[in-house]
Amino acid sequence: MGTGTSHGVPPLDCVMGGYRKCPKGVCRKVLTDPRHGRTRTSVLFRKRGKTLIADVSSDFRQQALRHDIKRIDAVVLSHGHIDHFGGLPDIRSYTEKKPLVAYASAETIDTVTQAFPYMFEARKGRDRGVPRLQTVELTETTNIAGFKVTPVPVAHGHLKECLGLRVDNVGYVPDVKTMSAKSVKLLTGLDCLILNCLRDKREHKTHMLLDQSMELARRLAPKRCYFIHMTHDIDYTVDSKKLEPWMEFSYDGLIINV
Ligand SMILES: [Zn+2]
Ligand SMILES: [Zn+2]
Ligand SMILES: [Zn+2]
Repeated sequence: MGTGTSHGVPPLDCVMGGYRKCPKGVCRKVLTDPRHGRTRTSVLFRKRGKTLIADVSSDFRQQALRHDIKRIDAVVLSHGHIDHFGGLPDIRSYTEKKPLVAYASAETIDTVTQAFPYMFEARKGRDRGVPRLQTVELTETTNIAGFKVTPVPVAHGHLKECLGLRVDNVGYVPDVKTMSAKSVKLLTGLDCLILNCLRDKREHKTHMLLDQSMELARRLAPKRCYFIHMTHDIDYTVDSKKLEPWMEFSYDGLIINV
């Protein structure tokens, strides 16, 4: 549903600066081709009438409207950075009939609980304004709303329990710098890989650049690979020429059948 890095594209500072520092002019292109715009990263999985959301991004409300999401059966959170769970307050509408379960690592559950204590404080009666959210630690392969979900530990900055996910035969790794051989093994044989690719140039401490993302994609060797979590330094029309035929830059709203 969303393919942007934590600032989204266009980032506000690029707009405030009159696009003068936009490295490839991507932000100006948003005005005529909305596919250059990127809301914060999230993926919706749908199978046999069930819906699983991986990451509830800061732009969740906008994404729910765009995709006309009528129901959500469960939520999985990759890690405790706000771009991946900042939309949780808006999920309340989906918890009116029954509470929603959010699966995540213990570290992420801790962060979310501290960020939104009002959601988890014991309440008397039912407060319609507050999402009824339950958290469950995800430590091993688990059946979640009919999807087989495997947590895949990855290194991303100072976090100790940042996860990629294997959802049936689809890999989702929104934020990653490196991953262990064990995690690589968990993500082999995929039909589809959805992988972090921050920007084209300038090394970043906690994310991968385009050549690093392509290198990891080659190691994981899925049938198809879609790059996500991108800044305004990736122009999906121009930079596509650098990719191999089985790789693509994703864009908001892209629907993939697997
Ligand atoms: Zn992120
Ligand atoms: Zn820009
Ligand atoms: Zn992150």
